[in-house]
Amino acid sequence: MQLRLAGITKESVVDGPGIRVVIYAQGCPHRCPGCQNPKTHDPSGGRLFCVDEVIQMVRRVPIAQGVTFSGGEPFVQAEAFAKLGHMLKSHGLDIITYTGYAWQDLVNSPSEAWHDLLSLSSLLIDGPFHENERDLSLAFRGSRNQRIIDVGASLQRNEPVVVSDRFDSRKKA
Ligand code: SF4
Repeated sequence: MQLRLAGITKESVVDGPGIRVVIYAQGCPHRCPGCQNPKTHDPSGGRLFCVDEVIQMVRRVPIAQGVTFSGGEPFVQAEAFAKLGHMLKSHGLDIITYTGYAWQDLVNSPSEAWHDLLSLSSLLIDGPFHENERDLSLAFRGSRNQRIIDVGASLQRNEPVVVSDRFDSRKKA
């Protein structure tokens, strides 16, 4: 199975807690004004990677505590990202996923692949980037409408459990 990616960052500390490998999906339907990664929008841009190739690249970063799926929009390639996510988790890495969709869009979707990708993620950062709500003081996100959601707790309670404050207060401390 293949993924179309815009790129991979080997050591990031701004895309979730700890040192993380970031995998950027190529292709994004949201087209948020002010997006920081407009090169990721074209669904035919970037290049194709085999899932196994990405696993090998991640394993060459032993310092990484987890992997973040960013974009672009990972849910456009949900089946391939879910496969990658399950394999990375089997190597002891936790998964954080960014999406321009809202939590409700994902849980109400009929797509099994969307549910799979959502439920294997420990945290979801949801929502499009809103330029008029841009805030550099936030942890791991660019605008105030975006939320850090504890996926496990949210699926259990059947409502989004937002934990953004936990990370914002750490950033300000
Ligand atoms: S969802 Fe993310 S990558 Fe897509 S346009 Fe919005 S900010 Fe850019």
